[in-house]
Amino acid sequence: MPQLIQLDGSRGEGGGQILRSALALSVITGQAFEMVKIRAGRSKPGLRNQHLTCVLAAQAISAAEVVGAELDSQELLFEPQTLVGGTYHFEQPGAGSAMLVLQTVLMPLLLADTTSRLTLTGGTHNPLAPPFDFIERSFVPCLRKMGADISLTLDQAGFFPVGGGQCRVKIQPVGRLEPLHLSPETGIQRHQGKVLIANLPEHIAERELKALKGSPWERAEIVYVKSRGPGNLILLESQSEQLCTIHEGFGEKKLPAEQVVQKLLSRAMHHVKSKLPVEEYLADQLLLPMALAGGGSFYTSELSQHTRTNIETIQAFLDISIQVKTYGKGWHIHLG
Ligand code: AMP
Repeated sequence: MPQLIQLDGSRGEGGGQILRSALALSVITGQAFEMVKIRAGRSKPGLRNQHLTCVLAAQAISAAEVVGAELDSQELLFEPQTLVGGTYHFEQPGAGSAMLVLQTVLMPLLLADTTSRLTLTGGTHNPLAPPFDFIERSFVPCLRKMGADISLTLDQAGFFPVGGGQCRVKIQPVGRLEPLHLSPETGIQRHQGKVLIANLPEHIAERELKALKGSPWERAEIVYVKSRGPGNLILLESQSEQLCTIHEGFGEKKLPAEQVVQKLLSRAMHHVKSKLPVEEYLADQLLLPMALAGGGSFYTSELSQHTRTNIETIQAFLDISIQVKTYGKGWHIHLG
């Protein structure tokens, strides 16, 4: 009987990602875990609705026995039984991020025995979470390079705070993921800017386009999206042969459109100046598939708390060496 893995949810970044990574790894490895102090450092600690949905989703695909799956719970015992692919509908209440539910179940279902068809409802475009476009054009293409066969469809966008979005994901089991080694070269072939807008005055998007003038993304386009509530998101995409890097900025109430663009451009240009290919969010998200593949490496401009904490969480479940070294203006991360 493998030992129960003990995790402290307040360590490192101390947020929901420790929990989601632990759930995914537990379902895949069949190792049970107990987590205490879940999100203890956050202003509203414990399991919020969106985290509870992730726990229940992981339970649904693994018939897990679970103690502590309740709102506000700061302790969880999770014992997976059998991983079962299939057709699932996971519903985030309100505008909780549906994409973070996907982050929880995607890797396990890739390694399941049968094809899975998911319908995910809730927020598809939330701050502090990967927007659908990021998953579709930055993260999943990396998984395809590792042998994964995943298709995604956005039926309706769901922006915070109204939500009501829906996407569908089809996941073919891969058997085994191949290691992925990304080169340090950015080799950017094309910059593409997109301004998504839903149920808001058109002048907001036009002012954002104007504010992008003089930047590498000045030839941006406006994309009108179907959504229940208002929403505005600027996507700055840089496509190379190996990767699509995306920086995103959400329009906010009371924050002038020009300032939204300015804040976003300063983040994106900081990354561009590093001359390294992987930005901070893709960095923390690539760790799990690379660890499961038994190898991988990439060069990133940022080493976030999320990345450091994800390394610790992965190493609690998998016997894999993960080395972090400085490289130019950033870091080289090597797994395996
Ligand atoms: P947590 O803060 O612990 O709930 O984790 C948030 C997760 O969302 C991490 O995996 C981040 O990489 C991801 N994330 C947050 N903001 C973005 C963003 N703008 N683009 C892509 N992913 C993001």
